[in-house]
Amino acid sequence: MKEYDVVVVGAGPGGSSTAEYAARAGLSVLFIDSRKEIGWPVQCGEFMPKTDEIRHIFPDVETPEELFDVPDALVSRPTKIIRMISPSMREYDVGFSGYSTERRAFDKYLADKAGKAGAELMTDTKFMGREGRNTVITTKGKFRADIIVGADGPFSSVRKTVGANPPSLLYPAMSTTMDGEFGDVVEMYFGNVAPAGYAWIIPKEGGANVGLGADPNLTDKKVGFYARDFMAQIGKKFNTKPRQIVAGGWVPMSGPLGKTVYDNVLLVGDAAGHVMATNGGGICIAMICGRIAGRAIGEHLNNHRSLDDYEAQWRNAVGKDLETARRMMKYASFAFSSNWLLSILFRTAGTSGLSKVIKCKSIFSLKDWT
Ligand SMILES: Cc1cc2nc3c(=O)[nH]c(=O)nc-3n(C[C@H](O)[C@H](O)[C@H](O)COP(=O)(O)OP(=O)(O)OC[C@H]3O[C@@H](n4cnc5c(N)ncnc54)[C@H](O)[C@@H]3O)c2cc1C
Repeated sequence: MKEYDVVVVGAGPGGSSTAEYAARAGLSVLFIDSRKEIGWPVQCGEFMPKTDEIRHIFPDVETPEELFDVPDALVSRPTKIIRMISPSMREYDVGFSGYSTERRAFDKYLADKAGKAGAELMTDTKFMGREGRNTVITTKGKFRADIIVGADGPFSSVRKTVGANPPSLLYPAMSTTMDGEFGDVVEMYFGNVAPAGYAWIIPKEGGANVGLGADPNLTDKKVGFYARDFMAQIGKKFNTKPRQIVAGGWVPMSGPLGKTVYDNVLLVGDAAGHVMATNGGGICIAMICGRIAGRAIGEHLNNHRSLDDYEAQWRNAVGKDLETARRMMKYASFAFSSNWLLSILFRTAGTSGLSKVIKCKSIFSLKDWT
């Protein structure tokens, strides 16, 4: 049986970042993915905050530029504004520096970086379970690993092997790419168009990512119905149609799990609930926590530091902000039951309040009342 210091399950942003930093620490790393092609099919809005915005949202993350200053080729369309549109169609323009990317290329870029650092990638390889503490069973055979990382998304199979509970709230979401010219403003529509969630148009070069996430109590079929309805409306308005298959996925919206280290198993990214609950974005957090995981594993195997350092370090870096986002969503949830209430909430919060919420800041800060 082939042996590795680390086996990472999942080669999305979380898994590839973990693999890269563990390999950089001099460890032997295998990272596997059940997909035949990394990053495909795309199940994402493909929106990323720019490095300065990440610095603002997560001020405790060290050297974000090392992770997020990506090559220009990965930037499809830079954007400076997110337009939040209330159920009464009132527009709130929030300043937010970001860009759309091609997730298919973005995920490959991260996997390539891990490969260049020395990690070995195996695609079309599904994690099937564990045997004892150190044996990883996959569709391509068994591997021995000192440390096993579950970066295998919201329904993590690795997480099941340690008996951890899944995120308590998962939003179904669907997206596609449509051809056309959609300018350079990201649009988020709230209300009946996407019950208890939002629909988006994220401009890309020569098109836009169009999709929505909605009430988790809706069936898959119903979410598909809302998504197709929204896409049809956009198609009519811009005289276009989806260029790519409509693909769906699930977004953990209940904040990070209470525990992400189980003996020699670590959970990273969506598998750990590492998503901003106020906007559903998780790519950048998966990368931040992946880097922390890779380094912590290095410190553990090379210098006998505790693996629990991973948990403490990611909580220091992003825990407070993710918790603020979770709380803000919880407070706002009452308004999602009614278009009228939601429109009032938007008016009350105003552009500055909405800007805070989307950037994981509290709108109840003492500064606002003094
Ligand atoms: C429709 C939609 C739109 C979104 N839009 C955005 C957005 O615009 N911006 C943003 O920041 N976030 C967005 N997100 C969230 C974002 O996609 C995730 O937070 C992010 O991909 C998390 O990265 P990850 O590496 O943890 O997991 P993933 O990217 O999900 O990667 C997990 C990998 O594990 C693999 N895998 C799963 N099970 C196994 C197994 N048993 N064996 C082997 N491999 C396995 C999968 O094939 C996958 O490649 C969106 C999500 C959805 C569903």
